[in-house]
Amino acid sequence: MCPTTAGLSTTRETRVAIIGAGFSGLGMAIRLRQAGIDDFLVLERAADIGGTWRDNSYPGCAVDVKAHLYSLSFAPNADWTETYASQREIWDYIKRVCAEHGVLPHVRLGAEVRSGLWDDAAQRWRLETSTGVIEAQFLVSAIGPLSEPALPETPGLESFEGRLFHSAQWDHNHELSGKRVGVIGTGSSAAQFIPKIQPTVEKLTVFQRTPHWTFPRMNRRITKLEQMLYRRFPALQRAVRARQYLYHEFLGFMVQHSRLLEAVAMLRLRLHVRDPELRTKLTPDYRMGCKRIVVSDDFHPVLMQPNVDVVTEKIVEISPRGVLTADGAEHALDTLILGTGFRAMPVVDPLRGRDGDTLTERWREGRCAYYGTTVAGFPNYFMLVGPNTATGHTSVLLYAEAQIGYIVQALQYLERHQKTSLEVAESAQRFFNDHLRRKLKRTVWLTGGCNSWYLNDPNGTSVLWPGYTWSFRKALRRFDAENYVLRDAARCVQPGHAHSTRRPLASQSS
Ligand code: NAP
Repeated sequence: MCPTTAGLSTTRETRVAIIGAGFSGLGMAIRLRQAGIDDFLVLERAADIGGTWRDNSYPGCAVDVKAHLYSLSFAPNADWTETYASQREIWDYIKRVCAEHGVLPHVRLGAEVRSGLWDDAAQRWRLETSTGVIEAQFLVSAIGPLSEPALPETPGLESFEGRLFHSAQWDHNHELSGKRVGVIGTGSSAAQFIPKIQPTVEKLTVFQRTPHWTFPRMNRRITKLEQMLYRRFPALQRAVRARQYLYHEFLGFMVQHSRLLEAVAMLRLRLHVRDPELRTKLTPDYRMGCKRIVVSDDFHPVLMQPNVDVVTEKIVEISPRGVLTADGAEHALDTLILGTGFRAMPVVDPLRGRDGDTLTERWREGRCAYYGTTVAGFPNYFMLVGPNTATGHTSVLLYAEAQIGYIVQALQYLERHQKTSLEVAESAQRFFNDHLRRKLKRTVWLTGGCNSWYLNDPNGTSVLWPGYTWSFRKALRRFDAENYVLRDAARCVQPGHAHSTRRPLASQSS
């Protein structure tokens, strides 16, 4: 059965409303069904499911985490065809898994959540959506940490007379062959599509503000024999996944505690880029891991091609004909592609909690949540990949799945104890965040001398989890009711031993 495109305005009641039909929102939906909870809706503003893997369809788009790890743990895929799966393959995987687990009938496409309000008397969320009002006991925000394209605030952007688009809104109808194409940005997205478009365009001008560290990708095809073995011996596939898990954790350790990978990257740069002037332009002056590392074998070699120019002069203006740089040059272009990344960690606004505040108002001094999952003042509200749960070294699904398991337990706990709502205690949240901020201060993201979306937090800390996945997963393995205020419609139950049984970040070792 297919997801439905929402029709005329109606008021609908549901137990759980999930905002966003990307990887994590759909993972939440599947886990709810597996737990016997069928009364839920997945609200998706777009016309299809898939989140970032629906939107990012630029040439060469693929995951930079090994595919067996970048899968839902309960839905291994023996059919991955490459070590690093392509966007199309991941999107197909998401659709197939959702169909197999029967969640598609719960998805409402074209349903954008415009506002929401917690009604404390009714103990419910009331959501205004583009297709009508929805009342839900629980609200799960799964809107994705990188779902809002960031456009540069360069003067004159709108005056450009050629074709201009962001990498996450690729114009597949626009022919690039024979064109003078400019690309702003050299992050993970640009590093993937630049090698794909370079052979077809007449001239490629790459505007680089900051060089990125790169790391070998060594992608290869997965053979039919391997696929057959994975199907026949699932334990073998689990072992491969475990090896990939350890590999990525090891990379996480290395970037925080060693400069060895920097030496490897410099050696590769020397091998790939023979031109010393270009090599100087591509040499980072900050610590590796401070920004997201570009996992690529072809990005630097392509920049050596005769039709490619790497411009490091500051962009001062976009003119109708191209890009003006600080040295007075005008780079004439037919097409300008923005590989300028995303506004990290957007919030659903306005979503008003118990006191009528929005999250933006609450977070003026910085985002503050409990394990990136719950927020004081927002009863029965959960986030997937919320503040401080992004990652720079491994699969974000490991974090999302830990949160999903925790949320399912929370719902079951409330039902068992006949309560209607839960809200993390302010004291537990504060205690957790004090520890978190101390941990973050020591990470390469804050000390490495760079700027990136990792730091997109008003209080100057990072949006990433400051440690390894296992500490996060361990912390969320059990729903810690003692750190929550539980209510039923009639009365409120204070936490028994607020934050006494769990030491936040206890086993952190970053
Ligand atoms: P990004 O890593 O944030 O890179 C944006 C690039 O645009 C940077 O080079 C940035 O320069 C540049 N830029 C931004 N605004 C600019 C301006 N006004 N003028 C000049 N340059 C500007 O974005 P992304 O490449 O889209 O990647 C975002 C994240 O998505 C990645 O970090 C990764 O987590 C994820 N991603 C993953 C994959 C994958 O799994 N394979 C692929 C793509 C993306 P500065 O560095 O100076 O800011």
